[in-house]
Amino acid sequence: MRPSDLLQPRPEGLYCPPGDFFIDPVRPVDRALITHGHSDHARSGHAKVLATRQTLDIMALRYGENFAGVRQAAALGETIDVGGVSVTFYPAGHVLGSAQIAVEKGGLRIVASGDYKRVPDKTCAPFELVPCDVFITEATFALPVFRHPPALEEIGRLLKSVAQFPERAHLVGAYALGKAQRVMKELRQAGYDRPIHIHGALAKLSAYYQAEGIDLGPLEPATVEAGRKGDFAGAVVIGPPSAFADRWARRFPDPVSCFASGWMRIRQRAKQRGVELPLIISDHCDWDELCETITGTGAGEVWVTHGREEALVRWCELQGISARPQHLVGYEDEGD
Ligand SMILES: [Zn+2]
Repeated sequence: MRPSDLLQPRPEGLYCPPGDFFIDPVRPVDRALITHGHSDHARSGHAKVLATRQTLDIMALRYGENFAGVRQAAALGETIDVGGVSVTFYPAGHVLGSAQIAVEKGGLRIVASGDYKRVPDKTCAPFELVPCDVFITEATFALPVFRHPPALEEIGRLLKSVAQFPERAHLVGAYALGKAQRVMKELRQAGYDRPIHIHGALAKLSAYYQAEGIDLGPLEPATVEAGRKGDFAGAVVIGPPSAFADRWARRFPDPVSCFASGWMRIRQRAKQRGVELPLIISDHCDWDELCETITGTGAGEVWVTHGREEALVRWCELQGISARPQHLVGYEDEGD
């Protein structure tokens, strides 16, 4: 069996003809296997969805209980037969519930890794390296310029600024699923034990993380009532990036605008967004992690999807690994 007989790009997403299923389809399909809950990968309206229990829970939280006709939970490491194709979910280390999906038939194993990272993150199960014949990798930060510093260092810079400006509120922009909870957890690991104030858009998902046993410490709503602006002096407030454009952000006392994203490596991006304190915290691999992972899987062939495909394809070729870009459309990760 050739790899392209087992998985192939279609307008809806990666399709497996023998198993008749799609991985992370961007349009409603009959059977979808979903790697994780970010909205560009997990869409509502499929007839059947197979995903980890946590991803199914997250989809229900975001889209409502009727997000799919039938849902089936895949336990990590358990092999499931889907139309004669063996399918196994392995942790991807990206956000809570995130998984890579190994697809196997006739002695050929392809791993679709979805989004993933390798650095420690106490808010989800760590990435598991799965040996395979073909490895499908994202390429969000696939340029040598992208090297993410340790998250603890970035959180240290935030806490230093909080200590330095006790009269100002620190407003941290972080994506609602994954990044926001990771910033909370990293703050706790750094010893910050005061309440963290959160925008309403983060409440449901953060409560879900806590219910799943990820202790984020005391969280309080970041609602400003008339005349109580001073309450947030010296506070850390976390909100989704979209909230920074609206009136919500202007309610806080002389805020320090912070943004937690791998893109903050690019000074120009921080400047464009008016970010005073850029925090380079990413839930994606940096260049070194990507290269290391590709080598580690032992894959003889690599398919590079969404992001900066060209540099990574070139790097693979230089290593003697056959590689090609797969221009899948519709993936603009909300969690970078
Ligand atoms: Zn993602």
